[in-house]
Amino acid sequence: MKEKTKKLKIVLFTGYNCNNRCVFCIDADKRALPERTTKELLALIYAAGKQGADILEIIGGEATIRPDFTALVRAAKKVGIASVVCATNGRVLADLAASQKIVDAGLDAVIFSIHGPSAGVHDALTASPGSFDQLMKGMANLKKLGFRRISGNTTVVKSNMRALPALAGLYVKLGVRNVEYIFVDPTYGGAKNAFDELVPKISAAAPYIKKALRIGLAAGLDQWKARYVPLCHFKGYETQISEINERTLFLTEHWAPDFKNTDAIGSRRVVSRRRPPACAGCARFQVCEGLWVEYLNHYGDGELKAVKSRV
Ligand code: SF4
Repeated sequence: MKEKTKKLKIVLFTGYNCNNRCVFCIDADKRALPERTTKELLALIYAAGKQGADILEIIGGEATIRPDFTALVRAAKKVGIASVVCATNGRVLADLAASQKIVDAGLDAVIFSIHGPSAGVHDALTASPGSFDQLMKGMANLKKLGFRRISGNTTVVKSNMRALPALAGLYVKLGVRNVEYIFVDPTYGGAKNAFDELVPKISAAAPYIKKALRIGLAAGLDQWKARYVPLCHFKGYETQISEINERTLFLTEHWAPDFKNTDAIGSRRVVSRRRPPACAGCARFQVCEGLWVEYLNHYGDGELKAVKSRV
């Protein structure tokens, strides 16, 4: 039963097929799983509507490469879901006709995954030459069609963290009002398999993430956020931490082909993130989720420092 004050957000995974091969992808080991059928997805969309979903986020893999993508969006609007959102690598949108079809289907918002300020940085991470240029073209196409609800997310890894300020400059130039800098999740998939190559120390990455947030603030973009970071490295940025915000705003369910999680926000705290012994007595303990368990297994908790005051 959803609490009246919170919005119900259902994240619907269509499957794990993708036209990129991002090296850090959490789904890297799931590519061979079968895609959900159209019939299955339409039934799930109907169920989401019946359950009172306020937001349906359609993701893959890469959902836009499915021939039925626009039919799924239309169905979600037809069952009365107020906000139908897609997280995408943006490549399909490089085709103006495809963009037009997606906009016509009634999609409400698009979240582009941008992992660098240039083709050099982005394409190396997506392992897909040309993916940055297509993404930029896709975003330009949406704007050309008058579509304005465009957000960005960036996975922070070793090879792009130094480029975050430049990427922030690009986001400012593109006028992206909602951006998330997401500290890489090494629980499964690409970042777990190549941890040493990909996962930076939080003490190394935090200064660049904070610099990127400040670049946004200086441009009047105060909705930019950092995700999956320990709060002791983000003192003074508490209003820009995704988890703190989402806990008050959303109930989030994940409906994937291989699992269903009816409390994605709460379970993360219990299962995949941890506040280790170094957090004892911390003033932020209740609101902080600490670090990824997998991160602590590799690097330990030596970078964490209990916050003394609530100020
Ligand atoms: S010491 Fe632990 S609980 Fe406190 S802010 Fe850091 S990670 Fe969070």
